Amino acid sequence: MGTLSKYFYEATRNKTCRDMLHPGCTCFEAGKIYIWQGLIGAMRHYLPGAVTALLFRMKHWDDTEVWRSFLTQYVRCIIAGLPMTAGSFHFFCGFYNLFGRFSAPFFVFIPSMLGACTCMWLPRSIVRTQGIGLFNMYIEFLIKRSRSSTIAAMRNSRLAGTLLFCILSAAMMPTQQYLQVNRFWFATIHKDVEQDLNNNSMEAEKGQCKHHPGRSCLQHIFGQVKRSFYFGLTICLLKNVLPRITLAIKQPISFLRIIMSRFDYGLIGFFTCYKALFEVINCFLTENCQFNPLTRSMITGFISGASYCLYPNYLLFTYPITELIELYWMIYMKSSLPKPKVAMLLDRLPTVMLMYAFSIGMMYHLRVVYPYYTNRYCHKLMDIGTSGRSEVLARGYAEIMMGYRD
Ligand SMILES: [Zn+2]
Ligand SMILES: [Zn+2]
Repeated sequence: MGTLSKYFYEATRNKTCRDMLHPGCTCFEAGKIYIWQGLIGAMRHYLPGAVTALLFRMKHWDDTEVWRSFLTQYVRCIIAGLPMTAGSFHFFCGFYNLFGRFSAPFFVFIPSMLGACTCMWLPRSIVRTQGIGLFNMYIEFLIKRSRSSTIAAMRNSRLAGTLLFCILSAAMMPTQQYLQVNRFWFATIHKDVEQDLNNNSMEAEKGQCKHHPGRSCLQHIFGQVKRSFYFGLTICLLKNVLPRITLAIKQPISFLRIIMSRFDYGLIGFFTCYKALFEVINCFLTENCQFNPLTRSMITGFISGASYCLYPNYLLFTYPITELIELYWMIYMKSSLPKPKVAMLLDRLPTVMLMYAFSIGMMYHLRVVYPYYTNRYCHKLMDIGTSGRSEVLARGYAEIMMGYRD
């Protein structure tokens, strides 16, 4: 924010919130429009999440309770999300009228952060996914924006990116193995088999590893890889088909052509290849070497990470960074290492909520002020949630900064 403020005050000196956000109407009139736009925005913004939760309970659709909880959950999201989709703009006008001028932190950052104040009433899964997603976009912004020549060189190198991802992946697998958890990742750990099971009738025969009794390595690997392939395929279909659903009805031929050309073959390749490398090496090491599970998962994690070269992407790259911070924190809290009061305090803080509020404020601020360095998903997310109001603000700001308006 530092470098920005110098130009910021210069350019916005004679500007009002009316010039920037609601040309043609007063703050009061605009305030009423924000509420309607915010309501519609929130309806669109939270629909996919609510529907996904409903899809997971497809087997119980004949139960009215499922539908009741879907509706209450959805309405709760819309109401708790309203301070963000509409309220942030009220804060925007409010702070301008309060100070009589624009102030850099009170421009978008604080209004958006205040807009996230009701996030404790949003479903935790939504707060978590969005909070982490936006925080990852913030890391992406820091990487893209960095002026260091080393980072600039690494940013453009697929090899460097792949190598770093291998290291992240090598750090990820043993932590999950150690904690015996299966968090979302591109391969799942094989939980440690209890010692006393070794002499059990479940004992694996020759050519079968302990983690897949009753099946040969080849059958096991093939089954696992197939699952990853279908998972990748589903993601790619959702990602490409959903935004073009109207085109599919109007012009099916050009729709198919676009889907074929835009399809993320790299992403499917990544999912499939990661799982294939992971399972093949895991079976090989289990059969041929006497490594302990932690070393084994580290080696397999490192090698599988090489599949990143098929789909080098910021979202993919930043995901393990936040995930690892959280996992290593869990390990630290479980360990017998000394824990100062600060650590205990940090552990009790509602970290997810704070991160959500900070990330919303920060990313929305950056989206308006540095649109070229921010992830386009962030643009989309904001645009849908605010019924396009964020675009008006960003454009208004850009035009003033570039001197198109005086
Ligand atoms: Zn205003
Ligand atoms: Zn095997």
